[in-house]
Amino acid sequence: MSQTPFPMPETVRALHRTPEGVPIPWNTEWDSSENRRIVQRLTPAPRLDCDCIIGRGEPRMGGQCPSRQRMAVTGRLCGVCGTPVDARTSVAWISATPGASLVEPGAHPACLAYAMCACPHLQHLLHRSRVIECQEYAVAESHIVLREGAALERVPAPLDSTRPGLLDFYVSLPHESRTTYARRWLDEQTARN
Ligand SMILES: [Zn+2]
Ligand SMILES: [Zn+2]
Repeated sequence: MSQTPFPMPETVRALHRTPEGVPIPWNTEWDSSENRRIVQRLTPAPRLDCDCIIGRGEPRMGGQCPSRQRMAVTGRLCGVCGTPVDARTSVAWISATPGASLVEPGAHPACLAYAMCACPHLQHLLHRSRVIECQEYAVAESHIVLREGAALERVPAPLDSTRPGLLDFYVSLPHESRTTYARRWLDEQTARN
């Protein structure tokens, strides 16, 4: 793993690593689920659950565990390290597509800065990414709906929605957010350290 200008946060140090030494984010799905995709026939909407165990089997890098993802978004847990983000600390997201839904949970700014430098996938997207930061965010649902012609479509829905579709992930809706180009944001974090 290449050196990063940011120290590895203590909470990231506790994570499992890839053979290359890159920490595996807490929200990553592992292939250890007995019933990898469990559709709970709940009301108001069916929900996709997952019972994978962190560190057991192989990680599906880039794939999120729907159960941990929802736990992180509703519990204000950092998607990178899985520990709570203090209410006085801002929550940060990286997004490569302006205006797209934030389906990754937010992160501690220190964890995100570290991940942006240590993760080859994020490195690759850095030139066209932005960082969104806020103190508070609201939560909505993202449903998968089967359209005519068997096309799958992702549609937003309010929390606890009775709208059709399968709930897998929550999305975060930041309040009074600040958006900064990713490289500029990293420069600011360097200056803060
Ligand atoms: Zn899982
Ligand atoms: Zn964190």
